[in-house]
Amino acid sequence: MDQQVDVVVVGGGSTGCGVVRDLARRGLDAVLVEKGNLTHGTTGRMHGLLHSGGRYAVSDQKSAKECIEENRVLRDIAAHCVEETGGMFVKRPEDSEEYFQEKLEGCRACDIPVEVLDGEEARRREPYLARDVEKAIALPDGAIDPFRLCVSNAADAREHGARIETHAPVTDVLVEDGEVVGVEVEHESGPGKRVHREPGTTEEIRARHVVNATGAWAGNVGEMAGVDVEVRPSKGVMTVMNTRQVDTVINRCRPKGDADIVVPHETACILGTTDEEVDDPEDYPEEDWEVDLMIETLSELVPALKDARTLRSFWGVRPLYEPPGTGTEDPTDITRDYFLLDHGERDDLPGMTTIVGGKLTTYRMMAESISDHVCDTLGHEATCDTAEAPLPGSESDARMEELMDEFGLRSPVARRSGQRLGSRADDVLGEYDPNPVVCECEGVTRAEVQDAIDDAGSDLNAVRLRTRASMGNCQGGFCTHRIAAELAQEYPESVVRDAEDELYQERWKGQRHALWGRQLSQAMLNHLLHATTMNRDGDPANLDSEVDFGAFDAGSPGGPAGASEGGESGTAAADGGRATDDATTDGGRAADDATTDGGR
Ligand SMILES: Cc1cc2nc3c(=O)[nH]c(=O)nc-3n(C[C@H](O)[C@H](O)[C@H](O)COP(=O)(O)OP(=O)(O)OC[C@H]3O[C@@H](n4cnc5c(N)ncnc54)[C@H](O)[C@@H]3O)c2cc1C
Repeated sequence: MDQQVDVVVVGGGSTGCGVVRDLARRGLDAVLVEKGNLTHGTTGRMHGLLHSGGRYAVSDQKSAKECIEENRVLRDIAAHCVEETGGMFVKRPEDSEEYFQEKLEGCRACDIPVEVLDGEEARRREPYLARDVEKAIALPDGAIDPFRLCVSNAADAREHGARIETHAPVTDVLVEDGEVVGVEVEHESGPGKRVHREPGTTEEIRARHVVNATGAWAGNVGEMAGVDVEVRPSKGVMTVMNTRQVDTVINRCRPKGDADIVVPHETACILGTTDEEVDDPEDYPEEDWEVDLMIETLSELVPALKDARTLRSFWGVRPLYEPPGTGTEDPTDITRDYFLLDHGERDDLPGMTTIVGGKLTTYRMMAESISDHVCDTLGHEATCDTAEAPLPGSESDARMEELMDEFGLRSPVARRSGQRLGSRADDVLGEYDPNPVVCECEGVTRAEVQDAIDDAGSDLNAVRLRTRASMGNCQGGFCTHRIAAELAQEYPESVVRDAEDELYQERWKGQRHALWGRQLSQAMLNHLLHATTMNRDGDPANLDSEVDFGAFDAGSPGGPAGASEGGESGTAAADGGRATDDATTDGGRAADDATTDGGR
């Protein structure tokens, strides 16, 4: 059945989720359509830095001021998505003193609170900083969880009457008499419990206004409407280390450059990044030199990174936008500001507005400005309250101590569970007694996994994003089967096995870029556990045969073979034995570390 609404928002990243929340809270009838799951695009593939604005304090003070303003708002309304790590811009001997002073003055001019630390004090706060770090500027950078943030926004939108439709790509923008009047979506089957329209069916959603919030894909949706949106997608790599070598966001204090930030995130650290223009946001090379660059360059700031265990690497694509005719050659020079393109004014095509550029940190502000614009266009009078209204789940962490006693969990598990679940922690964790830990690396308990299954159904990747289960050192080697087993009460065996394979394959994808040292040992151990011990490749035991590393890449559920292409079976078996010990010991230790002292 086709639907007529006030506004269709296309794109379920931070921008789209923020926009649909804002519009719904202002009383408009809104629908969000997303081709994948929420955070399927860039929002699910970024550092998770809650900018203080320090990064832009010299080059782009408008952005810097927006960042510090929104940084304060998000700490307030989305406390359960934010970790207040603090940040530092550190200066090494070869970095310019003049630039250090400019950064300091820039921060002050943008109302970013700063403190200058000498090298000794910086190292006292972050003991793994290099000995030759001379000084640092401390400021309020933080870490933000984009998955929880988007889900909270979408949930709030739904509570205010919006429809959230995932796995529903827009295939056409409806234009009638020179005006956009809606979109056509194709319904696909999304995994999980969420009720989707019948797969393969098409729906016209007619609307008084369409918001194109598709980020790096905005040009494609523009094209469907017959207008040019000059997005310049720029890829960046991020490399995940197994523990928190630092607890503070560490930035290099220099004008610009690749590999200049380390963001602590949950039990890991994320190193970033590069900035390279690509033609297609879905299809670009993922190159090993980018990963090497992260580790080599950032080891200058935190030498422990050089020998640390690398878990995986992933890439994201910035939705940079340049007004026509600007012609900037170097993508690092393209502004990080956001742009609102009113296609009525710009292209004589009323009924649609595009929002591009910006940062996750400023998503709420972007959403407010586009919602103001939509309300003006529709003649709808309502004020924005998203800067004051807390997101669902963010009310308070105050019951943390109580939770630790109440559930008999070790404190970091309770802390993380409490942070992840926000105000729902009490209800969710109280559901199970006993409540065993299902994923040791990330300290995720059965209650949390079951709660995520209630929400996401059999889609274990969605369960992963909600809970972080399988995102630690073992990358699912020790826990995918346990997580899958949690499905068994409700789902038939075939669904459970498929869900397990899907999760395991997803974890393997990123590990391909981290196959050396201990992570290679872990990958081999995972393979041996899953293919051999659990016999998930369904292979009758044949000790003389070569390990079929190719099978995993081809989709066999056996485990992450391909770890050592061309490796001899004898080597694999012998190394595998040793590796098993190493990885087991290390995995166990790391898991303990992670659950007892915050993962450092
Ligand atoms: C390497 C890197 C690191 C970054 N780090 C940070 C950081 O630390 N802090 C920060 O504040 N910002 C950071 N950013 C920027 C930030 O991630 C992005 O600005 C932000 O996530 C963009 O969100 P969005 O909603 O506009 O786009 P997206 O998240 O890409 O959302 C667009 C959505 O549209 C959907 N879509 C596309 N086509 C269609 C269609 N036809 N039909 C339906 N849906 C469609 C996509 O699937 C996607 O989910 C980083 C960016 C990169 C690339």
